[in-house]
Amino acid sequence: MEKIFFTPGPAQLYPTVQKHLLEALNQNLGSISHRGKQFQGIFAETTSNLKSLLGIPEGFNIYFTGSATEIWEKSLSSCAGKSSFHFVNGSFSKKYFEFSKDLGLTAHKAEAPMGEGFDISKIEIPSEVEMICCTQNETSTGVQMPVADIHSLKDRYSDKLVFVDAVSSIPHPVFDWSKVDSVLFSVQKAFGMPAGLGVWIVNQKTIDIAKALKAQGHKATPYHNLLSLVENGAKNETPATPNTLYIYLLGKIVADMLGKGVENIRKETSQKANLIYDFCAKSEMFDPFVKHLAHRSETVVVANTKAPAAGIIESLKKENIVLGAGYGTYKDSQVRIANFPALSVENVELMLEKLKKLPA
Ligand SMILES: *Cc1c(COP(=O)(O)O)cnc(C)c1O
Repeated sequence: MEKIFFTPGPAQLYPTVQKHLLEALNQNLGSISHRGKQFQGIFAETTSNLKSLLGIPEGFNIYFTGSATEIWEKSLSSCAGKSSFHFVNGSFSKKYFEFSKDLGLTAHKAEAPMGEGFDISKIEIPSEVEMICCTQNETSTGVQMPVADIHSLKDRYSDKLVFVDAVSSIPHPVFDWSKVDSVLFSVQKAFGMPAGLGVWIVNQKTIDIAKALKAQGHKATPYHNLLSLVENGAKNETPATPNTLYIYLLGKIVADMLGKGVENIRKETSQKANLIYDFCAKSEMFDPFVKHLAHRSETVVVANTKAPAAGIIESLKKENIVLGAGYGTYKDSQVRIANFPALSVENVELMLEKLKKLPA
């Protein structure tokens, strides 16, 4: 029997992945040149579909990398000469912060305990900071930063770049593109693809700042930096030989999502999240980790378990349902349940039925 993956990445594949992957092989996309018309057409189609899905206006460009982690590094190295600021409330946001220190920048942070978010109005960002890095959905703890909070940063700090890691939530959050400068993600979470492709959405201001830094003699990383991506992207190409197969696949999956309608996908995501949180709240065995309702992620639900989490995960595996383990030190006291678009309402109902039948 087929397994259903509720893991938060790599995750359940989007139902049409197999069909598109076969078609890609039939079209010899593993062998075509990345400096030719066919590839440029694929690049253009995928970026255009993403712009439609996410409502991205004129003035933004989209570039491809190997992962989201890579974009953490390239964004800091290309767009900050001295200092960055980070909202740290879990393992992913912490790594973004640490990358800044490792690159020799002055890294500032606001830190919240695991399972908690931020009271953003109380946080002051030092004037030397050039870019503010937000993790919209902290996958390790299931805490989200409400988009309104992210937008408010731009209102208060219009001179600084606002960067958003939306790896495990996009396309769910609805961004006001006049209030964010850059959004990054990778495809093995909510887009339901195998891992191996990062996507970096940037506006002109971000590019202009990278250009100004370069003109001042600032050295960005040589293997991919924003300006090398921009230079090649202008031709619908990439600096190095890219994962053509996945750029194609992403374009097709986004087209399928457009066919379903992004509003419908978002509505369904909220509906499924409600089912999971309701279950956890009523259950004797589970307890939602994130207490503050506005900070609860709709795409990655983290629950404390009364019994050891490993036993619960094992029991569900026997039913061909794969839950995510708790992250790091929470490995044996939490489960993480992904709620991505590849999972249907029926999939979620089935998973909850199995959880209900577990011996208390
Ligand atoms: C998974 C994840 C990443 C890292 O993505 P990679 O594609 O593995 O580099 C970064 N940020 C968040 C919030 C994530 O969930």
